[in-house]
Amino acid sequence: MAARSLTATHLNLIEVANKTIDAVPPHSTTEARTTDHTCAAAALASDGRIFTGVNMFHYSTSLCAENTVLAKAAEAGVASAYSPGLARPTEESPVAEAEQRPAELVLMVAVLSEGRGVISPCGRCRQIMVDYHPGIEVLVLDSDTGDIKAVGIKDLLPYAWVPKKW
Ligand SMILES: [Zn+2]
Repeated sequence: MAARSLTATHLNLIEVANKTIDAVPPHSTTEARTTDHTCAAAALASDGRIFTGVNMFHYSTSLCAENTVLAKAAEAGVASAYSPGLARPTEESPVAEAEQRPAELVLMVAVLSEGRGVISPCGRCRQIMVDYHPGIEVLVLDSDTGDIKAVGIKDLLPYAWVPKKW
């Protein structure tokens, strides 16, 4: 598995995710159990925008933090394998031009509340990311060494299920 050491960009995204979950109290009270938020995710787009989100625990089915981030990025016009996205104006090019490439998500990380650190994506999120954003890199926790590594999503889900044309 190819993995890269952490860069300043990686560390900044981890910090953004930590600030996101720290801003969402409470985390684990008995009363809040059915609407608990214990995980935040942050994703970096190729145009520099950062999208954040938190998980939504529910007894019927839960929504991972990565899912909320992907939805917010899609809403903001970020491209995926299933949608063309929107070309957006930048500082260098104030007017979006037809040939300007729409932003894509390039990096994702999720962290647990109360300073528990980076958590690797679950299997469902890996499948969603490899389908929607096959070029994204994800920060994962190596549970054997405790190291955090940047790994391409295709390396996180080898021999992935590939959907036929919808
Ligand atoms: Zn997940």
